Order: sequence, then C-alpha cells, then structure tokens
Amino acid sequence: MTANLIDGKAVARQIEAAVVAEIQRLGYAPGLTAVRVGNDPASEVYVRNKAKKADELGLRGTQRIFPAELSEAGLLAEVAALNADDEVDGILVQLPLPKHIDARKVIDAIDPTKDVDGFHPFNVGLLHLGRPSLVPCTPAGVMRLIDSTGVKIEGAHAVVIGRSDIVGKPMAALLLQRSATVTICHSRTRDLGSVIHQGDIVVAAVGRPLLVTGPMIRPGAVVIDVGMNRVEVDFADRLAHDPDKLRTLAKNGSVLVGDVDFVRAREVAGWITPVPGGVGPMTIAMLMQNTVTAAERRRR
Ligand code: NAP
Repeated sequence: MTANLIDGKAVARQIEAAVVAEIQRLGYAPGLTAVRVGNDPASEVYVRNKAKKADELGLRGTQRIFPAELSEAGLLAEVAALNADDEVDGILVQLPLPKHIDARKVIDAIDPTKDVDGFHPFNVGLLHLGRPSLVPCTPAGVMRLIDSTGVKIEGAHAVVIGRSDIVGKPMAALLLQRSATVTICHSRTRDLGSVIHQGDIVVAAVGRPLLVTGPMIRPGAVVIDVGMNRVEVDFADRLAHDPDKLRTLAKNGSVLVGDVDFVRAREVAGWITPVPGGVGPMTIAMLMQNTVTAAERRRR
C-alpha cells in the first residue's frame, strides 16, 4: 500500500482564495501587524513571509521590527498602541522573544479580539469550552488537512504526539470538539509505538526527526507531520532509505525532515503529509483566515 499524499500547498491555496473572496465581501482590507524583536534568522523569514502573504491576498500587512535590546516595557507599550489602533485587526508577536522579555506577559497584553495567533488565555479558554474563538493557526490548518482527505473524524481514535501550548494541546481540543477519541502523548509516555499504533489519525508535533517509524503506523491511518527538523550530514545514515532527502542533503549540506519517517510510513498509512509542503503552508493561510475573522467580529 502507498498512502495518498495530502497536498498542503493545494489546500492552502483554497483557503487563500476564500480569504480573498471574504475581503471583497467585507469591502475593506483588514490590517495585520507582525511584531519582531531581534534578528533571529528564522523569525525574519517567518515575519517577512506573513506580511508578504497578507499583501498578496489584499490585507494590509505591516511589519514592526525592533532591535534585540528593546525592553519588555517598550514591547508592552507597542502592543498597547496596536491594541488601541482601530486600523489594526490582527496582532502577532513572533516568538521566540529575547530572554529578557517575558513572552507570557506580552501574549497576555494583546487584545484577545486581535489575537490572531490564538495564544491569549481568553482564546485558549474559549477553544477548550468549544465556543467560537481565534484558534492557533497550525492546529487549525491540520484540521483542514484531515478534512481534505474525507476521512471521518467523529469516532476515530486520534493520537496527538506533543503537548505544547501552540500545537499539541489546541490540536487535541479541536479533535475532541469534532468527537474524535483523543490520546495525547509526550516525553513521558510509555511504549509510544503501541499507543501510536492505535491511531486512525496520528498528528506528530514533537520536533524529533523521524521519531515515528513505519511499524508504529496503523495500516490506513491518516498521518499528519507537523515536525520541522533541519538535519545535517551526520544524519545521513538515518536517511539511507530516502534518496530524495539524501540528494538534497548532499547538495545543500542540510535537509528539512519531519517527525515521521515519511518513506516507511507511506508504505503503511492511508494518507500522509510531506515535509515540506504539508502543514507548513497551512499555518500562514490560517493566519490570514484568522485576521479576516477578527476583522469581521470586531466590526460587526
Ligand atoms: P515543543 O514546544 O518543543 O513541544 C514538543 C512536544 O513533544 C512536548 O510536548 C514534548 O513532551 C514532546 N516530546 C519530546 N520528545 C518526545 C518523545 N521522545 N516522545 C514523545 N513526545 C516527545 O514543540 P512545538 O512548538 O509543539 O513544535 C513541535 C514541532 O512542530 C517542531 O518541529 C516545530 O518546528 C514544528 N512546528 C511546525 C509548524 C509549522 O507551521 N509546520 C508550526 C509550529 C511548530 P514534554 O511536554 O513531555 O516535554
């Protein structure tokens, strides 16, 4: 058996088209402001891509960039100004923040109606109560990917690996809301493989390259790989069975791999996401969707 590929880029394009249509219906361009502090190279790329995608879809994307020395009070003042600015519908503060800034304080300071990352405790509470809220983008995107397969979530056993506040926990809440039977695994889970094997749906959000092996997967399962791990030449042995990744590794000196052993899991699963090209493109698309949702709710 070879699993069907879930094409994250194609599903993301559908969501982006819906965002464009909603903006036209609204008749104005919702504003999204991305705040970055310091020069973390990955954050630079993320923030730039988010602002660019916003502009491409007809939102007003703005970047606010501050030096790493910005004080916590300075960042809180910036958040307060964005909260008060009626032109701003969505605020996102790119994580991680420099060590001298308490990320929790900053997240808590964002107006929950503009919290398009869905990280504010108010939105987290609404999500767990099953009420309308701004939902964290990555797990919201994963739900769209699962739905794109046509596999029924209700009654399925969903195994989520990882319990972070930004992926694992909201993922489990969303699956539970859709009446899956949900198991959450983490670093202390005993006999991880046999728990994963019970999953009709498996979502891996761990950050450990190729942690989930082929034999762990239940035949026919839907496998969603959130993990993004950049590995270098010392990892080549573990990729001996994956000529595509080996080629990229040889060419670039590093390669992006997921938490799932894609080649082996694909031989068993019914549906599977690649890395890259699976969950990644969905995260930005859902951020755009959240910004439009925030704008609609605020101006209702
Ligand atoms: P995180 O905060 O580091 O959380 C990782 C989770 O995995 C923790 O709950 C941890 O358990 C668990 N874990 C660690 N080792 C484990 C093991 N050996 N067995 C079982 N569970 C284990 O990571 P995150 O922010 O959720 O991100 C997870 C991955 O997703 C990363 O690779 C990240 O880059 C990627 N990601 C991708 C996107 C995207 O757009 N594609 C977005 C967000 C994140 P404990 O709680 O017990 O420590």
